[in-house]
Amino acid sequence: IAPPAILADPAPAAVLAALPGGRAVGGAVRDVLAGRPVADVDVAAPFPPEEIAARLTAAGLRVHETGLAHGTVTAVLAGQPVEVTSLRRDVVTDGRHAVVAWTTSWREDAARRDFTMNALSLSAEGELWDYFGGRADLEAGRVRFVGDPATRLAEDHLRALRYFRFQARYGRGDPDPAAVEAIRGAVPFLSRLSVERIWMELKRLLAAPDPAEAVALMEATGVLPTVLGPATLGAPGVLGALAAIGAPADPMLRFDALLTHGAAEAARRLKASGEEVARLVARYRAGHDILPIQPAIAVGGPDDDALRRLLADQPRDRLLDAAWLRQAVNRAWGWQGPDDPAWDRFRARLAALPIPTFPLQGRDALALGVKPGPEMGRLLAETRRWWMEDGCTADADACRRQLAEMMKAIHTKTL
Ligand code: ATP
Ligand code: MG
Repeated sequence: IAPPAILADPAPAAVLAALPGGRAVGGAVRDVLAGRPVADVDVAAPFPPEEIAARLTAAGLRVHETGLAHGTVTAVLAGQPVEVTSLRRDVVTDGRHAVVAWTTSWREDAARRDFTMNALSLSAEGELWDYFGGRADLEAGRVRFVGDPATRLAEDHLRALRYFRFQARYGRGDPDPAAVEAIRGAVPFLSRLSVERIWMELKRLLAAPDPAEAVALMEATGVLPTVLGPATLGAPGVLGALAAIGAPADPMLRFDALLTHGAAEAARRLKASGEEVARLVARYRAGHDILPIQPAIAVGGPDDDALRRLLADQPRDRLLDAAWLRQAVNRAWGWQGPDDPAWDRFRARLAALPIPTFPLQGRDALALGVKPGPEMGRLLAETRRWWMEDGCTADADACRRQLAEMMKAIHTKTL
């Protein structure tokens, strides 16, 4: 093929020049052939890891040896990292850990890769090696295992999840029946996978432009219910509806859409980050505020005061998430709700309004003579409630006056 421009970038070019016989491998080659943007180039070379590190260092590249035991080093040039791996062949695997040996055979290295479209290699000059028909599979939209699917899954069960990631991005038409059957057979073993790896793969799958079909297949094969554990799957159409209404291709929003209830609990079980779990919890809360205002949204409301109240209580991004999700759920279940343009207008207004912040703090109350303690907290909360009901527009002076009045009222009552 024509020498791809990406291999002429300074870092890959320097790496390939330092390693005679080295080739680009894996995702970069696949994406060059598919005409897709290539993020980073992985290179393989027929030398043991220490020799690769030595050759790269001699060529003036900065080399990180963190993955040396696994046969991988990272070379960096002009801030661009390139992963460089020795050719490997599997010796034994137990489904989770592979013991590898170095080899000089490109075919052996390709044979241990998961899918034919991931087993291609390419020289800087544009010579392509395709030992297992990966190019034809890529062109046909066929995600096919290298070798016997059941054997390859028994070696590494994670491949069952990786399958759906690649199916979502490159699959077209009917999925490979042999792959699907073998994946069904591997379902009982998926509970052995670490939840961290499951979560990482799920997010990658959900980052695809339109993962709905692959996710439906994942559900039909029993893989999705198994990896999600005791979570309630939502309506199958919600993910597709999200794409249809033009929601952002956001893996977290899509994960939320997969589960009508308990997305946060499911994420916690999968050891998602605290930030990710918090986001799902906050979206759930924001959803409670969106649900009752649907009739108002349908007729162009609610008014700015009500919108400011929402924004004072819930993070803007979570309200937007909740609006996307509610719109998609309505559509998937065939429920009547605001029409699509009404939702768009609502989101545009939500996005445009400045976020109101309550103008008083503890020291304002102190300055007004309130003693620190529970009474101060109560007074500030009361004043904030008044500020909210008023539409979140009252300034600090107006709020101070209100607080002073409330203080007077309390003291009159207690007297
Ligand atoms: P992406 O663009 O999503 O990163 P990728 O093909 O680069 O796609 P990686 O997970 O980065 O995917 O893996 C790089 C390459 O390593 C794959 O293309 C594949 O050849 C090989 N590989 C990765 N994981 C496995 C696995 N579990 N079993 C076999 N081969 C694998
Ligand atoms: Mg990659």
